[in-house]
Amino acid sequence: MFNQMKQITLAAGLTLAVAAGPAGADVPNVATDVAPVQSLVARVMGDLGAASVIVRPGASPHGYALRPSEAGSLQAADAVFWIGPSLTPWLEGAITALAPDATVVPLLEAGGTHLLDFRTEAAFGAAAHGSHDHGDHSDHDDHGDHHHQGTDPHAWLDPQNAQVWLDVIAQKLSDLDPENAQTYAANAQAGRAEFAALEAQIAHALAPVQDTPFVVFHDAFQYFEHRFQLAAAGAIAHSDASDPGPARVAEVRRIVQDSGARCVLSEPAFNPALVQTVIDGTSVRTASVDPMGSDIAPGAAFYPALLRSISAALTDCLK
Ligand SMILES: [Zn+2]
Repeated sequence: MFNQMKQITLAAGLTLAVAAGPAGADVPNVATDVAPVQSLVARVMGDLGAASVIVRPGASPHGYALRPSEAGSLQAADAVFWIGPSLTPWLEGAITALAPDATVVPLLEAGGTHLLDFRTEAAFGAAAHGSHDHGDHSDHDDHGDHHHQGTDPHAWLDPQNAQVWLDVIAQKLSDLDPENAQTYAANAQAGRAEFAALEAQIAHALAPVQDTPFVVFHDAFQYFEHRFQLAAAGAIAHSDASDPGPARVAEVRRIVQDSGARCVLSEPAFNPALVQTVIDGTSVRTASVDPMGSDIAPGAAFYPALLRSISAALTDCLK
């Protein structure tokens, strides 16, 4: 596919003509979907190279339009690491069309990933505050009114998943670039140790507020809640960030009052008016928390900074 003019027309009428440059190095060109995944790849690649990210900072990955420069990074990619179609359904066709020969790795499907089901209820209830682990997605449980509509895609917010994925990324890059296999493996191992320490630090920081209820904006923090056993009481919007209807907003108002929630989280990518509607007439606090870390600089240090920022916002709002 090198030295070859590619012309591809997307459904939107977008036409691209990209001449791939000469393949100078053996280090693969890597594209990623979102900043947390880019950070994990950057951790594994170290000084060997940089990975591009498709979803720009501040945008929601759930609904997005691919720009020409982002399509170009897919066309140039030897490897694409992404969460998977449940986070970015719009990306699946673009990967197939633009990177047909690339090694494509949906991280949610990697063995050893801790997966949690998509939650449909506005109120999380007691089931959300437990230490049970769905190590295997077929591990169906006994929640009577539990609707299975697939997997909650926000799995990067469990630092143990990040550890698993570092090894997956190192393995796939080594397959493409065996000369640097030792470097990829060593970087992944160092990252795993760093993330294990990070998890212990965050658990320690959150321990005093573990039982204090809060409500999130969209249901994006389930993996974080489970890993650190937090008392999230509900979400204004679903995990796919679709607009909640008036009935759900009214229900969340009741949840805020009945649960004794201390804090309702807003998110920079979404409408703050809904949070005001939910807390109107109460003394509940709000804090802005971003599961995508849009104000954090991209790169290897992004991932630990993202988890620390969520922990800091929660400890501050819930104290
Ligand atoms: Zn989301």
